[in-house]
Amino acid sequence: MIDLTVPEIALMNRVLREAALLARAIQEESAAFNLTKDDRSPVTVADFTIQAVVAHRLREAFPGVVLVAEERAARLREPEQAKMLAVIATYVARVIPGATGAAVCDWIDEGMGEPGDRFWTLDPIDGTKGYRRGGQYATALALIENGTVRCGGLACPVMAEDCAADRTGGGILALATRGGGAWHTPLDRTDAGFLPLSVSACTGPARARLMRSYESGHTNVEELEAVAARLGIPPDHCVLMDSQAKYACMAAGKAELLFRLLSPSQPDYRECIWDQAAGSLIIEAAGGKVTDLHGRPLDFSQGRKLTNNLGVFASNGPLHDTGLAALEYILTT
Ligand code: AMP
Ligand code: MG
Repeated sequence: MIDLTVPEIALMNRVLREAALLARAIQEESAAFNLTKDDRSPVTVADFTIQAVVAHRLREAFPGVVLVAEERAARLREPEQAKMLAVIATYVARVIPGATGAAVCDWIDEGMGEPGDRFWTLDPIDGTKGYRRGGQYATALALIENGTVRCGGLACPVMAEDCAADRTGGGILALATRGGGAWHTPLDRTDAGFLPLSVSACTGPARARLMRSYESGHTNVEELEAVAARLGIPPDHCVLMDSQAKYACMAAGKAELLFRLLSPSQPDYRECIWDQAAGSLIIEAAGGKVTDLHGRPLDFSQGRKLTNNLGVFASNGPLHDTGLAALEYILTT
């Protein structure tokens, strides 16, 4: 059983539920402000609100903690963004009474910590495009020690209770520790108890289900389809989904394979640690396997990005070598 008395686990359990409530409230109340970042990706009121709240909660629980998170407050501090900042501060103040715009910016910027021997990493809204579209999204939080993910959690506010890949539902919280298994519980019921997550036992690639990004620009669609064809995976076994919610589905045995190939428009793209840390541990702790496209373990010791890795390949385990062989064939011929 997951040990909720461990302070790091207790923190994830509390703060990920709080993050999900805020994400939903902001979505329902359609706080429509958003900004476009330098990489042209969107950032919403929810991204900033959740990063501020999680950063504050972490600092409250563990003074001196290092946080490496996706967002920064520089644009929000500009006078033109005063209205957006005021809206964000209102949401933060719902859970941290008295929060001001200036404090919110400072809390967001606590996420600019230097990755070292021990730090937390946060993606406040992973799958921002899914969030805005009404699809899957997640808040992802993980603790990294000496380049290895120690514990991690994902709040998936619109995931079905059984983590089915083809339906939405009331949301789940998944928590994992290295060596301690992966667990999930309905997001809104604090009394429900945690059930184990366990990957699928499928060994036949032609029966495998493949998860892929909803955004075609986050992968190489042509190569991905060639790999799927080589494995004999029928097109109706492919599920499109945003965010690390995909990893929760795989950990629950609802899909077997996930390839993050390099987009032809961004061949030098390297994965950000907050996009992989929590989700990869949850799959591994549920019995699955996660490597890069060459079969190398993900190396979280290189700073904010996985600079020693190319792409990501996650599987239920039994299909890993078969998947790597198909990948190698497609990428080298
Ligand atoms: P997904 O929902 O699986 O498409 O993944 C969403 C994440 O993909 C976002 O959090 C981005 O950080 C990340 N991302 C952005 N651009 C790329 C890219 N070119 N290749 C892979 N991932 C990307
Ligand atoms: Mg993300």
